[in-house]
Amino acid sequence: MVVFKLILQPMQEVSFQCSPEEAKDENVLKDFIIEKLKLSTEVKIDFRWKKRSIDARKKAIKINCVFEVEINGALQKNKIEFEIKSVQDSEPVHIIGAGPAGLFAALRALELNLKPIIFERGKDVRSRRRDLALLNKEGILNPESNYCFGEGGAGTYSDGKLYTRSKKRGDVEKVLKLLVYFGAKNDILVDAHPHVGTNKLPQIITAIREKIIACGGEIHFEKKLTDLHLEGNLIKNIEINKSEKYPVKFLILATGHSARDIFELLHRKKIEIQAKPFALGVRVEHTQDLIDQLQYHGRLNDEYLPPASYSLVTQVEDRGVYSFCMCPGGIIAPCATESNEVVTNGWSPSKRNNPYSNSGIVVSVFPEDFMGKEKDPFVCLDFQKEIEQKCWELAGKNQKVPAQRLLDFVNGKKSIDFPRSSYHPGIESIEMDEIFPKFIVERLRKAFIDFEKKMPGFLTNDAVIHAPESRTSSPISIPRRRETMQHIRITNLYPCAEGAGYAGGIVSAAIDGMNCIDSLSSNLICIKV
Ligand SMILES: Cc1cc2nc3c(=O)[nH]c(=O)nc-3n(C[C@H](O)[C@H](O)[C@H](O)COP(=O)(O)OP(=O)(O)OC[C@H]3O[C@@H](n4cnc5c(N)ncnc54)[C@H](O)[C@@H]3O)c2cc1C
Repeated sequence: MVVFKLILQPMQEVSFQCSPEEAKDENVLKDFIIEKLKLSTEVKIDFRWKKRSIDARKKAIKINCVFEVEINGALQKNKIEFEIKSVQDSEPVHIIGAGPAGLFAALRALELNLKPIIFERGKDVRSRRRDLALLNKEGILNPESNYCFGEGGAGTYSDGKLYTRSKKRGDVEKVLKLLVYFGAKNDILVDAHPHVGTNKLPQIITAIREKIIACGGEIHFEKKLTDLHLEGNLIKNIEINKSEKYPVKFLILATGHSARDIFELLHRKKIEIQAKPFALGVRVEHTQDLIDQLQYHGRLNDEYLPPASYSLVTQVEDRGVYSFCMCPGGIIAPCATESNEVVTNGWSPSKRNNPYSNSGIVVSVFPEDFMGKEKDPFVCLDFQKEIEQKCWELAGKNQKVPAQRLLDFVNGKKSIDFPRSSYHPGIESIEMDEIFPKFIVERLRKAFIDFEKKMPGFLTNDAVIHAPESRTSSPISIPRRRETMQHIRITNLYPCAEGAGYAGGIVSAAIDGMNCIDSLSSNLICIKV
C-alpha cells in the first residue's frame, strides 16, 4: 500500500509586510522576524517562507510575508514520502485520459491499493514535443497529439498556473505537495499564485508516470477509447483503437474538454450528456513591459518583482466578461485538435521571461442563447466548433489566426499592420465582427472600454487580439450523482474533471481525479459488503 505523508515539526509563525527589496535580503528578513518575535539579537533562529504574496494596489508595493521560525534550533526539513507496496495484483481501475485528472486519479488509486490502468490517445511527453514543433513551425496539426492531447493532458505545455478558486472541492495542498514530490519547486507551496512553467512540467509528468509504473500501475499511449459495450446499466467492455477489447469493472472517464468524439460516442450509446454554459472570445496580447508598468506603478524590469499579471472582470448587459488563463511573459499557442479549425491559448516558461503578456478575454455563453435548441446537448459545442472553423477559413485555412489591433477593434476599424505577435504560425488581419455574433462582439467591445477604466493604459493599439479563445471549459457536461460521483445511470462510469464539467484548470482537475477514486473505492467496499 502506498502512503502519502508529510513529516512536520512544531514551530512559530510570523507574518509582516516589507518592500520587494527587503523580501530578497535574508539579513533584513531575519531582523524583521527577531523584532516581530521580540527576541534578543543574540538568539539563533532558523526560518523559511510559509506564504508570500504581492500587494501592488498602492505605489509603495509591499510583499506580504509569512515565515516559519525555529528558535535556538534548526527547522526540520519538510519531507513528502511514498511508502510503496506493489498494486500489481490489486483490483484494476481503468482510467481514460492521462491529463491531470487521470494521473492524479492513478496516484490516489495507488494509495488505496487499486491498480490504475490508463489509456491515453496521445503520445508520451517527449514524442509529443515533436508534434508541437511541427505545428508551430509548419502549421501541421496531428489530431491525436497536440496542445490538448497527450501525456499530462492540456496542462503539460501551459503556464502551469496552480491556483484554483475551488478550494472547497478538495485538498489543494495535497496536489501541490505531490507536485513538489515529483520535482516542482518548493515555491509553489509558498506563493499565493504559484506556477510551474512549460519547461518544467514535462519532467514532473514523466516522474509521475514512472512512479505509477514502478508501483505496478499501467499507462498505455496512442490508445484511444473508441467504443463502449454496455449490459443494462453497466459498461462491460471498452474498445481501444477500434480493435482491442478489454473487460472493465470501473471506468474513470477523464478525457478533457476537447474530446468531442467521446461526447458523440456517449450520445450514440444513449448515455446522458447535457449542454453546459462555457465562455468564448479572444486572446489579447500586450508587451510585458506595458503590463509591468501598469500593474507596478511605472516600475519596469524590476529585479525584485516577478512579471506582472492581471485579472479583469466586468458585467456587460447582465453577462460576465472576464480575463482567462493570463500568461505573463508568455506565448500564444495553437491549440486546435482538428485540422479544419484554429484555437488559441497561452503558455509561459518558468521564468515568464518572454517579452509578451497574453490573456483570454471571454464572454459567457449559455444554451439559452440558441433559442429553440437549448435542449440539444451539442448546442454550445456546435457554436464553439462553428467559430473555430470560421476563423480557420477566414485566416487562410492553415494554423494562422484572425487578428485585430485592440483599439481598431473597439473603433470598428480593420487593422492595416501589426506589431510582432508571439503566435508562431502567424496572424491575418480580420475584423472580429466578421467572426463573432453581435451578442459576443458588442460585449467584448464594452468590456475592453471598462477594462481601460480599471487599468488605464490597457486599451492601446499596440495590443493585438487573436481569435478565437474558445476552449475555456467544456461545452457539455456528463451528469453524475453528487454523493457517489457515478454517472446518473451507468453505475460503473465515473465522469471526471474538466471534460465532464466538474473542474476548470490543472489543480481542480487533479482534485476531481482523486475524489473520483475515493468515491469509487467506497462504492467498492459497499459492493464487497
Ligand atoms: C495551452 C494551455 C494552457 C493552459 N494553462 C493552464 C494553466 O496555466 N493553469 C491551469 O490550471 N490550467 C491551464 N490550462 C487548462 C488545463 O490544462 C486543463 O484545465 C486541465 O488539463 C484539465 O485536466 P483534465 O485531466 O480534466 O483534462 P485534459 O488535461 O484535457 O486531459 C484529458 C486527456 O484525455 C485524453 N483523451 C481524450 N480523449 C481520449 C480517448 N478517446 N481515449 C484516450 N484518451 C483520451 C487526452 O489526450 C488528454 O491527454 C491550459 C490549457 C492549455 C491547452
